[in-house]
Amino acid sequence: MSDPNELTVLNPATEETVATVPAASEEDVAAAVARAVRAQRTWAALAPADRARLLRRFADVVDAHTEELARLEVCEAGHTLGNARWEAGNARDLLLYAAGGAERLLGRQIPAPGGWDVTFHEPLGVVGVIAPWNFPMPIAAWGSFPALAAGNAVVLKPAEATPLTALRLAALALEAGLPEHLFQVLPGYGTTAGRALVDHPDVAKIVFTGSTRTGREVMERCARLVKPVTLELGGKSPNVVFADADLTAALDPFSFLDNCGQDCCARTRVLVQESVLDEARALLADALAAVVVGDPADEKTRMGPLISARQRERVRSYVPDDAPALRGSAPDGPGFWFPPTVLTAERPDSRAAREEIFGPVAVLLPFTDEQDAVRLANDTPYGLSGSVWTRDLGRALRVSQAVRAGNLSVNSHSSVRYWTPFGGFKQSGLGRELGPDALTAFTETKNVFISTEGPAQ
Ligand code: NDP
Repeated sequence: MSDPNELTVLNPATEETVATVPAASEEDVAAAVARAVRAQRTWAALAPADRARLLRRFADVVDAHTEELARLEVCEAGHTLGNARWEAGNARDLLLYAAGGAERLLGRQIPAPGGWDVTFHEPLGVVGVIAPWNFPMPIAAWGSFPALAAGNAVVLKPAEATPLTALRLAALALEAGLPEHLFQVLPGYGTTAGRALVDHPDVAKIVFTGSTRTGREVMERCARLVKPVTLELGGKSPNVVFADADLTAALDPFSFLDNCGQDCCARTRVLVQESVLDEARALLADALAAVVVGDPADEKTRMGPLISARQRERVRSYVPDDAPALRGSAPDGPGFWFPPTVLTAERPDSRAAREEIFGPVAVLLPFTDEQDAVRLANDTPYGLSGSVWTRDLGRALRVSQAVRAGNLSVNSHSSVRYWTPFGGFKQSGLGRELGPDALTAFTETKNVFISTEGPAQ
């Protein structure tokens, strides 16, 4: 039974306690929101160029602490050091991108009979961000930094398992000179602090990343207050591999093993054209055997542990010992390890082929032709991401138009760039983060009509 007043942060590679952190109560959330309301007024009154200057200074401070942030992410989330360094760099780059956006948040002038129409993008006020444990630092950054740049204050609730990098980011914001209470991080439990943030009338918008089940509850609660909400939820993304593709690149197992598979964009449904199925199987078997799983702080490691014992049990429930599968290896002993696995005899309607497992497990499914590939790719309640691999340009374009997902890549496994929009179709979510419109998502558009007709004589 967990202590309602305290969070215990474990290192998932050793199961040792890294830190204990006070857990925010409903009253703590209310006090933080009240402070944020005051801080936001001062922040929104600054000239955009001054907000931008402070955010650029924040980026410099993050840059100077890259190694510290990366090692903290390794400790609390089990990310490999290489990935964690990329994540700290991503937070820095997003700050710089958002700072530029603050200076370019432009309204429009619309011709109108008898006067002028002018639109303004006004900040919403206080934004609540609820982050998951799979990418604690990037997701804290994506929800918060564009919101700050648009003139809002942010109260962020990190996942109970991973509050440390977010807390450190908030401390670095103060060091950079951002106003006090503008960017507050409140570790706590979802059912206490998370719900209190969602229900607070002075929180103008919620950005939630996590499971579809919790996202649905968050949306229902927001609906009661007609509060806008951005949801980044689960995925079960297809990797569509045609026979003419570069099979080695297409079947890179890190398309589903990155972050030990705890990645909403993971390509966990490997759809391979029948004529190259045997070749694909052989390539995957070799690739899984070569994956170095182990201490995430070791530079040579490519895959670390799962986040928790609970998550490992959940992943195990999809992979019976006797299931036909290709398997890599994983360490024994302390740590929440699971071997890289590809299930090879699943039906498309099986639990493992339909549900988000959130571990290093993919399913291999054959298809016959282009039509069959599109049908299988879309046979999911999710629609976040996916890849199409072929040398036929026309087919690449047809399939990427036909697949119902928010972030597709052709002959690539890349999903996330801070300068392009990110978000899901169907039950993968609502709204978009990042990209050129990231700041406007944190504003209200106001239209003012100015009459050019003089007062009635
Ligand atoms: P949740 O969706 O429950 O948690 C995500 C965040 O929401 C956490 O900060 C959590 O707090 C908070 N939260 C939980 N309940 C509420 C609530 N009622 N109101 C407001 N906030 C709440 O994910 P889980 O950690 O339970 O993971 C379960 C499964 O969800 C995973 O196995 C995976 O399949 C999926 N998942 C998907 C993610 C994605 O990016 N698509 C990310 C994380 C999980 P707390 O940490 O205290 O629970």
